[in-house]
Amino acid sequence: MKRVYIAKHPTEAYMVKSFLETEGIASEVRGAALFGTLGGVPITEETLPSVWILEDSQLERAIDFISRYEKGQGPPEAMGLPWKCIKCGEIMEPQFTSCWRCGTDRQPAEKIE
Ligand SMILES: [Zn+2]
Repeated sequence: MKRVYIAKHPTEAYMVKSFLETEGIASEVRGAALFGTLGGVPITEETLPSVWILEDSQLERAIDFISRYEKGQGPPEAMGLPWKCIKCGEIMEPQFTSCWRCGTDRQPAEKIE
């Protein structure tokens, strides 16, 4: 088990999990149940929901995939999945081509460097 992503909230954690599963990477969300119940406890990496992969051998692929997700990109097969605005971090439904909050365009997959 390796932690590959720390999410800001459970919704994001589960979205990353579904992204990874599209790629055939089995994963698990941890800590989501604690979210919002820790009154007065500072938010740290330990209290935020996180995504873990089950197979350590898939770590490199998982990290690569998540880094694209964080740039608001995705492989063509992920275009039907939710995406994340590179500017404000808002999570967008797949049908939107730009951010409804700040207007930033979705980054096309071919811009991956
Ligand atoms: Zn935005």
